[in-house]
Amino acid sequence: MRVLLVEDEQKLLSFVMRGLAEHGYAVDTAATKNEAEVLAADNDYDLIILDVMLPDGNGVDLAKWLREHEYSGPILMLTALNSTSDKVKGLDAGADDYLSKPFVFEELMARVRALLRRYGDGQETSSLEFADIEMNLIHRKVTRAGQELRLTTKEFALLEYLMRNIGRPVTRTQIIEHVWDMGFDPGSNVVDVYVNMLRKKVDQPFEKKLIHTVVGYGYELRQEP
Ligand code: CA
Repeated sequence: MRVLLVEDEQKLLSFVMRGLAEHGYAVDTAATKNEAEVLAADNDYDLIILDVMLPDGNGVDLAKWLREHEYSGPILMLTALNSTSDKVKGLDAGADDYLSKPFVFEELMARVRALLRRYGDGQETSSLEFADIEMNLIHRKVTRAGQELRLTTKEFALLEYLMRNIGRPVTRTQIIEHVWDMGFDPGSNVVDVYVNMLRKKVDQPFEKKLIHTVVGYGYELRQEP
């Protein structure tokens, strides 16, 4: 899941960015409304978190701009405490939810999960299941056939993306867009490297292989008959 985080307070930005990254999200950041517009025009975000007070404008206008420019994913606004008019304006402009500052990170994560669930296929996002794989997204645990798999944060994010796309193969570009942030080197074969690492943990110890290469396209989680 790839997130755009728009916040001009550097400390809060780093804190939220680090927390999201620890939960396996790929995070791009912007400190101004203008930077956010440039990034949103270029990338396909699963979620946008934006602060209301930005140096070159406000988050309410940014939310409106995003909706006018066909961003259809969830928007979570960060507002000042008790600023009811900001909340109302934000929701009217196309934001889905808001969180008053200061907030506890766990509350932010709960809202993020709820928004992604609402926008997703309605599947309960505290856990994902496919074949004999179970992923607990809150405790960041994966088991296959009841056996715990020890995945790195990136491997977890990659498996989560494949699990969210059961029944449709995904391209390397889609994987990069949703699992890696903009610091990614487009010339590298990082996706293939990570898929191989994931196979060693998810498929190699088991008889049935679930991660399949779709030649000339990308990858897919599939159960062979
Ligand atoms: Ca601010």
